[in-house]
Amino acid sequence: MTLRVLVVEDDPAIRALIQSSLSVEGFSVQTAVSVSEASALLRHALPDILLLDLGLPDGDGAVLVQEVRRHHSLPILVLSARHQEAQKVQLLDAGADDYLVKPFSVAELLARIRVALRHRGTSVTASVTVHELDDLRVDLTRHSVLCRGAELHLTPTEFKLLARLVRSAGRVVTHRALLTDVWGNEFTEHTHYLRLYMGQLRAKIELDPAEPRHLLTETGIGYRLAIS
Ligand code: CA
Repeated sequence: MTLRVLVVEDDPAIRALIQSSLSVEGFSVQTAVSVSEASALLRHALPDILLLDLGLPDGDGAVLVQEVRRHHSLPILVLSARHQEAQKVQLLDAGADDYLVKPFSVAELLARIRVALRHRGTSVTASVTVHELDDLRVDLTRHSVLCRGAELHLTPTEFKLLARLVRSAGRVVTHRALLTDVWGNEFTEHTHYLRLYMGQLRAKIELDPAEPRHLLTETGIGYRLAIS
């Protein structure tokens, strides 16, 4: 089955690069240069994945994320410049799946697309309860974590935080999403909880907590559990 991608990007060079590299990989690629053009295309037919630039000539990509998320669960990858942290967070919290910082490599783009497509259809991922990530094995049902073959003893909160990241393995999870899902709605501003518990998790999981390989920081945005 050919997967359809809609690329919404006003920069002609980036648009052409994405279009050619995804076509070579066998994707069917449609492009749009503005919010209004993308809206029209989305009303006509839904792609399997949406690649969305943040800054568009006639508005903000956030409008499209909200529009799509009202009815659909298709993966949305945000393409952004390095300095657009606040907007990235806004879009991720509005329901985008992940983001790529420009300039990105084609290999990076393809890897993120694969992760996003794998997470599509939560019924499939929800039934998977044992996750193997490199030297880490997390059993969500038994609440057990093996690291390099040894059983780790995590506190209930440490486990909840790790489990939340495992469910989104490979994708960024925003501070707000982690705080809401692990601690609750009233804790969305308590980012110091995250720093504290992430430090504890790293001390237990990482060979070198100062150079984490599993629990990665996405500065200003959130955390990502690496998948390879
Ligand atoms: Ca742009």
